[in-house]
This record gives sequence, C-alpha cells and structure tokens, in this order.
Amino acid sequence: MRPSFLPRLVNGPLFDPVVYVRILNERKSLLFDCGHFEGLAPRELLSLEAVCISHTHMDHFMGLDRVLRTILHRDQPLTIYGPEGITGKALSKLRSYTWNLSSGYALEITICEVLPGRMHITRTRADAGFDVTSRSTVPREGARISEGPRYTLDAVILEHTVPCLAYVLKEPFHLNILKNAFAGRGYIPGAWLDTLKAHIFAGRMDELITVSTHGGTEKVRVSRLKEELVITTPGQSVAFVTDISCSPENIAALKGPAHGADMLFIEAYYLHELKDHAAARGHLTARQAGMIAGMLGAGQVFPMHVSPRYHDRLGEIRAEVEAARREASEPGGSTGCTL
Ligand SMILES: [Zn+2]
Ligand SMILES: [Zn+2]
Repeated sequence: MRPSFLPRLVNGPLFDPVVYVRILNERKSLLFDCGHFEGLAPRELLSLEAVCISHTHMDHFMGLDRVLRTILHRDQPLTIYGPEGITGKALSKLRSYTWNLSSGYALEITICEVLPGRMHITRTRADAGFDVTSRSTVPREGARISEGPRYTLDAVILEHTVPCLAYVLKEPFHLNILKNAFAGRGYIPGAWLDTLKAHIFAGRMDELITVSTHGGTEKVRVSRLKEELVITTPGQSVAFVTDISCSPENIAALKGPAHGADMLFIEAYYLHELKDHAAARGHLTARQAGMIAGMLGAGQVFPMHVSPRYHDRLGEIRAEVEAARREASEPGGSTGCTL
C-alpha cells in the first residue's frame, strides 16, 4: 500500500519531539509540536497547513517563531491547534514583534484552543499587526477538531501537570489503484491518477477527467474510473502522544481515538528505573510507553523525547518499549500504570 502520510521524527528519538507529516499528492503538511529543530527546509515549512501544539512548555513551542519567520510572506493561512491557554500564548508570541511594515502581508493565522466539548477560534492577520480580527466558540463532538477530504484530526485532552493534547491524524479511507486493470482498457498511468484521487476524496463522482490512453486521450467519468481501477481500504492513521502522566484517566481517554494507529509516536522519557521521576514530572517511562502502545494495538511504534541522559542507551529504551508492548498485546497482558 502506498502511504498517504509521510511522517518524519525531525530530531530523531532524542531531544525535542517534532513530527513533520507530509500529505502526499498535495502540497500540504502538518507539524506536531515545534520545540527546537533544524532538520526542516524552508520549502517544507512553507507547505504547513497546521501546527499542532501538545502544550506550551518551551521544548514544544519555541520553534513557532521559526515557522512564522519562514511563512510570513505567504498567502495561504496557517492554523495553530493547542490546549487551554494557547490563544493567549500564541498571541503573546505574535505581538512581541514590531509589525509597522507588515501592511502588505496576507498571512492569516487561526488559533484553535481545544477545550472539553468546545473550541475557541481566534483569527489574526499579519496586515493587522496580528491584532485579533474575529473570535468565536464552536461546540466539539468527541475528539474531532478538523475534518477535510484528505484527513481528519482528533485531539485528546490529557494530564501532564497541565492540560496536554495528544493528536490523531486519520485518512478517511485509502485509495488503491489496481495497476493490472489498466492494460485491457487502454489507459496509460499518469498525472490524471492524482486528479482522479482528488475528485474521489472530495466526493466529486460526476466529474469528467481527461485520461491518457493508447489512442491519445479520453474523457471519462470519475465514478466509472473508480469502479474500474480503484479499491478502497481503511485509511492510514498517525498518533502523536507526548508529555503525559501514566494515569488510568489518560489511558482511557486515548483508547478510543488512538486505537489501532498505524504509526504511534510516543514519548519514552526515562527508563523505568526512574519511574518516580517520571511520575513527578508527568512523563512516561519507556516501559509505560510500550504498555500504552500494546493496549492501543498500534502498528509501528516510534519512541521519542528520550531524555538526553540516555543518549548512549537508546537500545535499552527501545528494548523496554518493545518488551512492555509485547506483554500488553497478549490476551490478559499487563495493563495499568503500576508496572
Ligand atoms: Zn512538558
Ligand atoms: Zn517535553
């Protein structure tokens, strides 16, 4: 299966957790947390549609300045999602600069503050010196915070001595092109396949698109091409979980939205030998991260935000995650945080 999302753990397992997700066939991407990072090119930041902040401890938020510096001149808007308090924190950042020469800039930033059952939405624009241009509050059903043709985004409010969001990015369904269905119909694969996918994701089944054929080109309806060439399978999902206490409440809240994530990025800050440290600071140990991954039935698991003290013991972190994950995956396997 050709994936639709290409996630990258920008800083690797150590240091600030930053996950960049490219949405394939769209010039769009998402960023999950933005502490200190260097491994993203300006062109990658320019395609950002949204920045999803777990919480505003410095190691998760300081890089927003760098994002802003790179995209300031672009026309496409940016959305910032974050937990309780994100509106004031993001506006403070924006307002800490001088904007007397920004009147020609079209950038609009929408800040979405995720709260239980509702979301505060605040719009602000560069050409208004990042003054607030509108405020509203919308109700929120379940964990959903965004819904579009290519992906949905869920946010789960968790506890980390402060409210902290875990995010789940999901593809509504996955389109698989049946390559061996081309020959008998005279179709030649080409860029029109991307157009076909875009129409199917958007539900535009009556559109006619130009298909390359051995005889030249042909106009064919999307619904017919879908029947002839496409099978749909469950969509890809990516979960981002960091800086959380290993509490029964946090685990219960994650279970629905993050269940069965194909790729789970999860903090493994300490080895379990420092579980008391982890509990005092609202962090997970590697063993707890593995246990949560097993309980969620996650596919691939990527430990991240590992404390720099373990820079030469990453093998032990990974081994602890894997062992706990295997144990929790077994029927009747260990659950709970009293590991
Ligand atoms: Zn934190
Ligand atoms: Zn952190």
